[in-house]
Amino acid sequence: MTYRVYDYGRVGKDGKKRDLHIEKALAVTNRVPIIRDKSSYPHVADCDYFTVDKLNLDGKVMKRMEGSVSEESFASILILEGKGEIICGEETLSFQKGDSFFISAGSGSYQIEGVCDALVTTIREKAAPVRIGIDIGSRETGIGLVDIHDKLLASRVLPVDVSHSPEKMIEEIAKAALLLLERQGIAIDQCVGAGIGVPGTIDRKAGGVRYSNNIRWEQVRLKEEFGKYLPVPINIANNADCAALGEAAAGAGKECQDIVMLTIGAGVGGGVILDGEIYQGKGVGGSELGHMVIVEDGKECTCGRKGCLEAYVSVNALAKEAEAVSGKMLSPEEIFCRASEGDMALKEVAEDYVRKLGTGMVNIVNIFRPQIVIIGGSMAGQGERLLSPLRERVLKDCFGGSNAELPEIQMAALGKEAGIIGAASLM
Ligand SMILES: [Zn+2]
Repeated sequence: MTYRVYDYGRVGKDGKKRDLHIEKALAVTNRVPIIRDKSSYPHVADCDYFTVDKLNLDGKVMKRMEGSVSEESFASILILEGKGEIICGEETLSFQKGDSFFISAGSGSYQIEGVCDALVTTIREKAAPVRIGIDIGSRETGIGLVDIHDKLLASRVLPVDVSHSPEKMIEEIAKAALLLLERQGIAIDQCVGAGIGVPGTIDRKAGGVRYSNNIRWEQVRLKEEFGKYLPVPINIANNADCAALGEAAAGAGKECQDIVMLTIGAGVGGGVILDGEIYQGKGVGGSELGHMVIVEDGKECTCGRKGCLEAYVSVNALAKEAEAVSGKMLSPEEIFCRASEGDMALKEVAEDYVRKLGTGMVNIVNIFRPQIVIIGGSMAGQGERLLSPLRERVLKDCFGGSNAELPEIQMAALGKEAGIIGAASLM
C-alpha cells in the first residue's frame, strides 16, 4: 500500500492535482523519535519481513564496519549523513549523504569506511522456518510440514481422484496444506516455501508437468496453479527423485552425497542424486532407471519397449509370475515367505526375481558408482531376504568385484515420508 503525502506539484491526466493521503499516512506512522543509544549498530525497526539497523561510524572509535551478505538476504544501505567508501568484492565506491547501495544476496563480505550515519535493511531471519512438502502419487497425496532439521512436524493424506481436473486437484491439495499450517499454529510468514513431487515427466525450470500417465495429466502449469493459493516460493520435481532426496536428507542415505534409489511398486521409478543434487540430465525429465533393458526382446513393458527392468521386477510383474505357477494373487511378502518355506515353484519365481533385479542393480552400480543404492516402495518390506542375495550378486558381477569400492545396498528407511521430506528439501 502506498500513501501519497507530497506530490511535487504534479498533476494527473485530467490536469488536476492528485489526491494526497495525509490523514491515512499519519494514522500508520510512528512519530515517536528514535532514542539514540551509545551502541554503534542499533536496531531501528523490525517487521515480519524486514529488519533495519542503524550504522554509525564516528571516524574515531568506529571507523570501519565489516558486514556479510549471505544467500538469505540482500543488504540495502542508505547513507543519511557523512561520507566515505564502500568496498564489496573488487569494487570500491565513494559515497555521500543521500546515496544508497543495494548489495544483492550472496555477495559475501563488504566494508564501509568513513564518517557516516546509515540505515542497513535486510530480510528478517524467519523464526523456526518451516517448509511444505507435497508428494503427489497415483493413489494418494501426502502433505507435510518439515522443519530445517528435515523432521516431519505434521502430515496428512488426501486421496487422489483422477476424475478431477488437475486445477481442481491442485486447489484441494493447496488448501489442505494451508489448513495444516493453520492447525499447527504456523504463520505463512514462517513458511519458506513449498516443494512438490509429481510422477511423470517434469519441466523443473518452467515449473510444469509435461506428462504423467499415472494421474493422467498433460501440460499442467503446476507451479503457477499452486501459486494461486500458496503465497510462498515453489519448486517441483519428479516424485521418485523426491523420494531419493528424502532418503538422502533424513533416511538410509543420510551422510551420503551420491545415491541411487529404485522405488519398486506398481512400476519401477529411479532417482539419482549426485553431489547432493538431483541428476536430471540436460533436458526435461529425470533418469528412468526402470526402463533400462535387461533382456533383449524380452517381456513387453508399459513404455512400449521390450525387456525393461520394470517388466520383470515391479510388484505387478512379480505377482503375475507367481500367479502363473500358483494360480493365486500373492503379495511379495507371501511369495518370498512361501519360497523360503520350500514351495519349489515359488522359490524359482523368487530366485528369478532376484537375478533380474540383480542385473539391474549391477548395471546401476557400474554406471554411477554411488555410495549407496536404496530400494524403496512396497518392496522395501522384504529386508534382508532380498538384500543379501542382491549384495552377493553385486559383489560377484560388478566391475572390479571385491577389489572395487562397492556401494552399500539398503532398504529405504522413511517409507511414505521420504517423498514429503524430499519434496520439502527442494526448498
Ligand atoms: Zn519400459
